[in-house]
Amino acid sequence: MRRTLVAANWKMNGNKASNEALLDAFKKGFDGSADTAIFPPALYIPQLAESLKGTDIAFGVQNAYFQESGAFTGELALSMVKEFGCQYVLIGHSERREIFGETDALVAEKVAATLAAGLIPMLCVGETLAERESGVTETVVKTQIDAVLAKVGIAAFETIVVAYEPVWAIGTGKTASPEQAQEVHAFIRQLLVAEDAAVAAKTRILYGGSVKAASAEALFGQPDIDGGLVGGASLIADEFVAICNAAQG
Ligand code: PEP
Repeated sequence: MRRTLVAANWKMNGNKASNEALLDAFKKGFDGSADTAIFPPALYIPQLAESLKGTDIAFGVQNAYFQESGAFTGELALSMVKEFGCQYVLIGHSERREIFGETDALVAEKVAATLAAGLIPMLCVGETLAERESGVTETVVKTQIDAVLAKVGIAAFETIVVAYEPVWAIGTGKTASPEQAQEVHAFIRQLLVAEDAAVAAKTRILYGGSVKAASAEALFGQPDIDGGLVGGASLIADEFVAICNAAQG
């Protein structure tokens, strides 16, 4: 009942020519077996809107601010994001949390504002290596999810996509094993079940962290893994096509 979703986080990479080459190869190779979304740097959103016209491939921004307008230099309002045809907003990526100091409270504000704008938040959560090694993975993830639950309530999780991304697996080449990932995904689903089982059954929970074509099928085959959020491998056309095509619908 939950259709697999595979998303590409291009981070701060690319240029017009390389984007077009990547999009062309993706449009040719993708077999449509999953829902897909691409998060380019925001300046390239018009390029994606044009290139992806007439396809089912969605796109979104890697970050946006929760205020409607005003003196927030450097930020993007969600109304602007919507005006340019985005469907998704990536929120709380670990790089935003770590490098730009985003707190759980700010992440929750952004999720609420994204929903209010009629867009889909992709909420990233996950523990650092130190947290995993000290046995607090579940506490960390629960705190991150609870902050959003407290702000928007469980019903919003019919729309929100959760991306579990262990920080130690992002960009490191160290993918969590399918079993390690499934354990945390099941834990996240149980947190939602405790609030509303019917909603929890619909929430898509993606895995992110060094997903490659070689690991995608085993990850996506786990009962609570509903797709992936892919960074590095999404910049390599063949790899990303193979990851998306590994989804079984
Ligand atoms: C990410 O940036 O969300 C990510 C999962 O990156 P990578 O696939 O490179 O680990």
